Amino acid sequence: MKITEIISGKKPSLSFEVFPPKTSDNFETVEAAALKIADLKPSYMSVTYGAGGSTSKFTADIAAHILERGVTPLAHLTCISSTRENVRHQLDNLKKKGIENILALRGDIPQDAEKLTSDYRYASDLTKEIAEYGGFCIGGACYPETHPDSPNSDSDIESLKIKAESGCSFLTTQMFFDNNILYNFMYRLLRKGVDIPVIAGIMPVTNAAQIKRICSISKSALPQRFLRIVDRYGEKPEVMKQAGIAYATEQIIDLFANGINAVHVYSMNKPDVAEAIKNNISEILK
Ligand code: FAD
Repeated sequence: MKITEIISGKKPSLSFEVFPPKTSDNFETVEAAALKIADLKPSYMSVTYGAGGSTSKFTADIAAHILERGVTPLAHLTCISSTRENVRHQLDNLKKKGIENILALRGDIPQDAEKLTSDYRYASDLTKEIAEYGGFCIGGACYPETHPDSPNSDSDIESLKIKAESGCSFLTTQMFFDNNILYNFMYRLLRKGVDIPVIAGIMPVTNAAQIKRICSISKSALPQRFLRIVDRYGEKPEVMKQAGIAYATEQIIDLFANGINAVHVYSMNKPDVAEAIKNNISEILK
């Protein structure tokens, strides 16, 4: 099923993300976690793509197993280190496995960028290529707090307009910890005429170490209310986990209450976290 059909229903949509292993040694562990999350029957599940395509085979394999388990997969695909031939090969493989949804991404520019041999510059170039190939529902990433490479929010939103015109039919947001940031972003999108559906990305922070990582990969603002929780409970893993799940749950309930009908949880291969969040909002999802 196409993601756009899933999220267009009246019922709120709750989906989860998993990331593939870095080496084949961990494949079974990650796969088992992914299938446990699939057994929670989320609206769909995304599988990320390792930087530089290092784990591309695992992404397609895990997505295929999720599909066999009866859940729609969304396979991520990046292009910054790819040739056209390589992308065509990936698309053939995904199609062969029955995967219908792709999140088309640029990927982060590696430090040794001068050595890059890429046929693509932006995610919209990849989106166009996939649209020309045909048969896939294509999504893209967006950044309520502006992508770090962008000089300002307006130019970042202009690039989302190009993404949509290239064939992207939904957007998933970078994580954010203050819902007002998303609401303001949605307003700016609509004012610029970007009217494709936006899926809100929520990260349950369940240990203090995650915060450092979040700050290094995104420019997400951390509200005082959230920082107080980390200050107080960061050193107590079980308490931090409970508090992080509660914070994410509150964010999700507020999003649904304000008309955002699709939420994607960065569940980080943790079935217990995914299950706790789903249980917390079980009545809302009915
Ligand atoms: P783009 O859309 O190409 O944007 C990158 C920058 O270029 C932005 O500043 C944008 O404004 C600008 N830009 C875009 N198009 C144009 C244009 N036509 N003209 C001028 N400027 C333009 N990374 C992975 O490696 N694997 C993953 O699986 C993965 N999944 C992700 C999922 C989500 C939901 C998100 C939010 C991010 C994900 N990332 C992933 C990280 C992502 O690859 C990086 O954030 C990357 O730096 C940008 O990717 P993008 O697709 O947003 O790029």
